Amino acid sequence: MSELHRAHNFNAGPAVLPLEVLQQAQAEMLDFKGTGMSVMEISHRSKEFEAVIATAETDLRDLLNIPSNYKVMFLQGGATLQFAMLPMNLRSAGSADYIVTGSWSKTALKESQKLGTSRIAASTEKEGFNSIPAAYDLDPKAAYLYYCANETIHGVEFPTEPVAPSGVPLVCDTSSDFISRPLDVSKYGVLFAGVQKNAGPSGVTVVIVRDDLLERTPSNLPVMLDYKTLAESKSLHNTPPCFGIYMVGLVFQWAKKLGGLAEVQKLNQQKANLLYKTIDESGGFYRGHAQPGARSLMNVPFRLPTEELEEAFAKEGAKKKLIGLKGHRSVGGIRASIYNALTIESIQALTDYMKEFQKNHG
Ligand code: PMP
Repeated sequence: MSELHRAHNFNAGPAVLPLEVLQQAQAEMLDFKGTGMSVMEISHRSKEFEAVIATAETDLRDLLNIPSNYKVMFLQGGATLQFAMLPMNLRSAGSADYIVTGSWSKTALKESQKLGTSRIAASTEKEGFNSIPAAYDLDPKAAYLYYCANETIHGVEFPTEPVAPSGVPLVCDTSSDFISRPLDVSKYGVLFAGVQKNAGPSGVTVVIVRDDLLERTPSNLPVMLDYKTLAESKSLHNTPPCFGIYMVGLVFQWAKKLGGLAEVQKLNQQKANLLYKTIDESGGFYRGHAQPGARSLMNVPFRLPTEELEEAFAKEGAKKKLIGLKGHRSVGGIRASIYNALTIESIQALTDYMKEFQKNHG
């Protein structure tokens, strides 16, 4: 398959993966490392798979510079299961604080409230989730402070992480900006990400937990919800999502080959700049959702003057192989997701199309 036949893929997740990664997976599909089997057909207890998962972990540790007092897990159940596992493992009988900046943090809060006490430390819902809160009302005794680094639907991304009160672990849903930029893991108690945006196929959730927090896991949790057991078994308590972990490992190697996350961030910044510039220079024909200081480098939702034009924009774009531009069903409009593996050529194709569409319909 040549690159010429690849779509310009703006899907929000599952999303575009690096062509080299797909090609490597294709080349290794029938005979993984001389086993005569695909990676899907070998035992998860084999030395070949043990190397796959260990290398994936080492490469992620390199990329994010993860300190040795943190465990890395490759779990199932999506980021959504973490909305419940977090309070189950970390909150005990206490209360947790949530910063609500969009649909995903709001969903996480609701899920945690089913299981005990959580409070809102800040919310931007009244303003339509288009900004980062200016201030927080923080509980100094909270079990943790939760936030979502990048709201995939509203296109709002924290430029830097919020600061939790001393002794309160910071917990972050980094699903849609995972490995898109460097971050200081030592500032966090827990980071988690469904990988199907920047790092692989759906079916794997990466969870990074500081060791001391594993002591909070109650002893009566079912084993598949229990951070401590899952961490101690190195994600191999039961059969893990082997193929997904293999793919995630290939993406980590690809990111390292690009030069690491500082380089990845530069490329992402360049791509986002091009797109936001096109929006800003459209004289109001295209209107971005997020306020400039909160703009996401990963998901760019915007509106056109009418819903009819939005529909035509997505439809005509699809004919030009610009795929996945329809906004999330809950908010409408247009959304371009521009993850790590999306090339600058795809952004160029999109911005050229935006200018042409405006000329024809503006
Ligand atoms: N958090 C964020 C920021 C997301 O974008 C998503 C999915 N789009 C989720 C959580 C839920 O992830 P999953 O579908 O893996 O459960």
